Amino acid sequence: RDPNQKIAATWSPIGTDVNFGEITRQFVAHLQTTPKFALKLSSEVQDITKNADGSWRVSYKNLKDGTKTETDAKFVFIGAGGGALHLLQKSGIPEGKEYAGFPVGGSFLVTENPTIAEQHLAKAYGKASVGSPPMSVPHLDTRVLDGKRVILFGPFATFSTKFLKEGSYLDLLTSTTTHNIWPMTKVGIREYPLVEYLAGQLMLSDDDRFKALQEYFPNAKQSDWRLWQAGQRVQIIKRDEEQGGVLKLGTEVVSSADNTIAGLLGASPGASTAAPIMLTVLQKVFKDKVASPAWQEKLHQIVPSYGTKLNDSPEAVAKEWAYTAGILQLTPPPAIPQLAAPQATEAAKPAAEPSKPVSDLAL
Ligand SMILES: Cc1cc2nc3c(=O)[nH]c(=O)nc-3n(C[C@H](O)[C@H](O)[C@H](O)COP(=O)(O)OP(=O)(O)OC[C@H]3O[C@@H](n4cnc5c(N)ncnc54)[C@H](O)[C@@H]3O)c2cc1C
Repeated sequence: RDPNQKIAATWSPIGTDVNFGEITRQFVAHLQTTPKFALKLSSEVQDITKNADGSWRVSYKNLKDGTKTETDAKFVFIGAGGGALHLLQKSGIPEGKEYAGFPVGGSFLVTENPTIAEQHLAKAYGKASVGSPPMSVPHLDTRVLDGKRVILFGPFATFSTKFLKEGSYLDLLTSTTTHNIWPMTKVGIREYPLVEYLAGQLMLSDDDRFKALQEYFPNAKQSDWRLWQAGQRVQIIKRDEEQGGVLKLGTEVVSSADNTIAGLLGASPGASTAAPIMLTVLQKVFKDKVASPAWQEKLHQIVPSYGTKLNDSPEAVAKEWAYTAGILQLTPPPAIPQLAAPQATEAAKPAAEPSKPVSDLAL
């Protein structure tokens, strides 16, 4: 773009890609060194039922050899992405009956052309068009996948009745019950602009999508970009006394009244929001334990800023950012307080060194 063109942007030099798959592998490797942990892969949970003593029986099938097994647990957390609603319904808890799911998929334009990818090292977010839902915020996004840099642009909404990318076309139908059909119908009527938005997205041609990209990257060449189906989101619809049903664009932790089972519902909770979500689960389900000095000490050790409200304190934000950026080796520390201070009038200066891609970082 013309460097003299005026633009407004909020810029942070300490944004970075984080490989959550790698973090998960490292956590699991650590847990496997403890005697009370067992990891079962290629296993599909098929039922969750309550035992007479109040504990839960989780029944699952090994998808490789077909064997079926059961495990009893005092507490169950359902973290199954688009599969969570079905499992919550299977548990039979009344709280699960409050919800329905509405699947919306996402696709992106992607380029692997190194000449382009090497010139763009940022996540550049625009604004959702007027009338579009927040999940549609267009962005040009650098991703480092196993050391290879690619650029994504999107998302473009897609529709499928599946709740998981590799799910079943019957997912929407089998999750619809006598309890949630009415809230779904009410939301369908009231959220007509969303229905219109989705219909508009489904009718986009390759040329339309490319024009949307050109608003962000005017010199783009169509031959460099291909369409990629990214994943499925399951938006939640919740029963509502007054309105019949409401569409919730965020995520929700649902737990039973006796706090023995909890699940995470909602569209794209976000890998990066996993930590605060799990802290919420702990506070909700193990309230007394969280209040104990031993748990408080451990939580502060894991999350040094735990319990501190950062929103109103630029100094506290600057301190936390400097801490995490230092560990992730992202930028020289002086750039960070300058960005966080509200009185700073000067535009944020670029970091002396560009952020390193995640594959270069010791996480
Ligand atoms: C293209 C794309 C880009 C994204 N970018 C970002 C980003 O930049 N930052 C960010 O924070 N988030 C991002 N997200 C969102 C993020 O990936 C998801 O929110 C996150 O992965 C959700 O984690 P989850 O564990 O709740 O669910 P999932 O990752 O969906 O995992 C659920 C797992 O449960 C399994 N499962 C389902 N049913 C069963 C069953 N019955 N038995 C056993 N297993 C079952 C599924 O197979 C799956 O493996 C992105 C998502 C996509 C698609």
